Amino acid sequence: MDDQQLLRYGRHILLNEIGIEGQQRLLDSRALIIGLGGLGSPAAMYLAASGVGQLTLCDHDTVDFSNLQRQIIHRNSSVGRPKVMSALDTLGDINPDVVCIALQMRVDEAQLLDLVAQTDVVLDCSDNFLTRYAVNRACLAQRKPLVSGAAIQFDGQVSVFDFRRPEAFRQADSPCYNCLFPEDSQAADLRCATTGVFAPLVGVVGSLQAAEALKLLAGVERGLGGRLLTINALDMHLMQSRLSKDPACRACGGSLVETVS
Ligand SMILES: [Zn+2]
Repeated sequence: MDDQQLLRYGRHILLNEIGIEGQQRLLDSRALIIGLGGLGSPAAMYLAASGVGQLTLCDHDTVDFSNLQRQIIHRNSSVGRPKVMSALDTLGDINPDVVCIALQMRVDEAQLLDLVAQTDVVLDCSDNFLTRYAVNRACLAQRKPLVSGAAIQFDGQVSVFDFRRPEAFRQADSPCYNCLFPEDSQAADLRCATTGVFAPLVGVVGSLQAAEALKLLAGVERGLGGRLLTINALDMHLMQSRLSKDPACRACGGSLVETVS
């Protein structure tokens, strides 16, 4: 780390849990952010400001005027531009040292597997179940930690699935996203466009995703792993619940058998 970096990241270096080693790990890390909307905006901005070495940004969409109420990485002047390009400009202004890769595409399973293989943590900031299931499968297959977030109306949730250690697959308390919301269930996508969403709520959820991702990358072994945090921003009620693995889960149930044998 040079003098500029010691100065820029000084307040992290002062933290016992991060220190110079943890900050160096952040500088040497790569994160993949799926979705540059309400959750991806603060998540990407905090990861960039914190000096995560490489950020891969993935979103097929363009900035719409109605996004500006909550997607704080985008500016009025970016309406009509690809979200990933708009995000790239903001992140470059925040911290020019971070290498940002912009992918304007709707990723398929094969591309996801490839992208997840080349990263150290995945932040699922998408807004639909199809993407969430595909991201979960890719993280399971590549044994990469997944930080999942969602928000609609006044309700938000965050959870962490750390697939890095093979022994974790044998533990009853290491579920995957599909254990929590099985793909064949009738969970319906509620869209912000039709149901509305409270602007600061996506900021809270996206910031919590950044917090969990930074700890995973810096080697801080405390966090939300295996638990679900739900947030109601109307009553300002936060609740944590412990998640358990579903032995019949179609995404990770098979991995359980494979690893034990
Ligand atoms: Zn599972």
